[in-house]
Amino acid sequence: ENRIVAPESVKEDSDIEASLRPKTLEEYIGQEKVKENLTVFIEAAKRRGEALDHCLLYGPPGLGKTTLSGIIANEMNVNIRITSGPAVEKPGDLAALLTNLSENDILFIDEIHRLPRTVEEVLYPAMEDYALDIIIGKGPSARSIRIDLPKFTLIGATTRAGQLTSPLRDRFGVMMRLELYTPEELSQIILRSAAILEIPCDREGAVELARRSRGTPRIANRFLKRVRDFAQVIGDGTITKELAALALDKLEVDPLGLDSIDRRMLRTIIRNYNGGPVGLDTLAAAIGEESITLEDVYEPYLMQIGFLSRTPRGRCATQRAYDHLGIPRAGTEKN
Ligand code: ADP
Repeated sequence: ENRIVAPESVKEDSDIEASLRPKTLEEYIGQEKVKENLTVFIEAAKRRGEALDHCLLYGPPGLGKTTLSGIIANEMNVNIRITSGPAVEKPGDLAALLTNLSENDILFIDEIHRLPRTVEEVLYPAMEDYALDIIIGKGPSARSIRIDLPKFTLIGATTRAGQLTSPLRDRFGVMMRLELYTPEELSQIILRSAAILEIPCDREGAVELARRSRGTPRIANRFLKRVRDFAQVIGDGTITKELAALALDKLEVDPLGLDSIDRRMLRTIIRNYNGGPVGLDTLAAAIGEESITLEDVYEPYLMQIGFLSRTPRGRCATQRAYDHLGIPRAGTEKN
């Protein structure tokens, strides 16, 4: 299923994403707390001439974890190798990556919670002692030899820190949580991207796109690119407030950035479960999504805008959600 509001990277994003990635902390908009801490850690590591501590970045997709890792490498003046949990299938794959690093380099592993367990175990001594333990031979003559690795920094990215095993989590010196962006920050990101891509977009146009981007820069950039087409065909080429609203309405993204799946989910809670509480798994089954996707990808935004609340007994739709969908609280008919 291809949702225009999906925060994960899809093929159509890839041609612009590289050109839109900020290269320095200064260009990186928002995430002030993370930037402030990183500035200190980077400066300290540089003064000591050491590798940065291993960092875990967590938060919903599309918030800039890969971008930030590239910036860290740039600010540290080191190389970065990028891979992902599912791509590292065997211990040997990880060994190959690690032995190819130079002193102080960064290894970025996206979706690190999806590393196979056998691979993860190779990572423990690598992170802790900068060493690889390799078993050679078989049966009674098998023995283990230790290979020293260059001192390196592992940057892991995941949607949720709680998905990591604790031995892996414990080996990160720094854990940083990325937050959804405010509409103001997203407008700045959109105006910056528009300038790079030479897309005429006025301030109100950017604000309108930002309001519907679900706190997520990747979605904001995708909207910018799609709405440009409408601006060129229907308008005079400039993205204005009216044009942005018209185009996103046509793409079935509502004024708060919800699409049909969000509305279906909220309606299900309201109609089938009387507004909640309904358990996550039950809800996921009812709308045909995976529980983990609901929880990590779709719920954070619905909670940020105050449409959904989590209680110990399950998910509830809030009054705001009823109002937005135009359903009276009594639960009886409309639509
Ligand atoms: P993640 O790794 O968290 O899924 P990415 O780092 O791939 O996200 O970012 C997705 C897109 O959003 C990139 O094209 C990047 O340029 C843009 N982006 C993310 N964060 C920022 C930011 N703080 N400022 C400007 N652009 C950003």
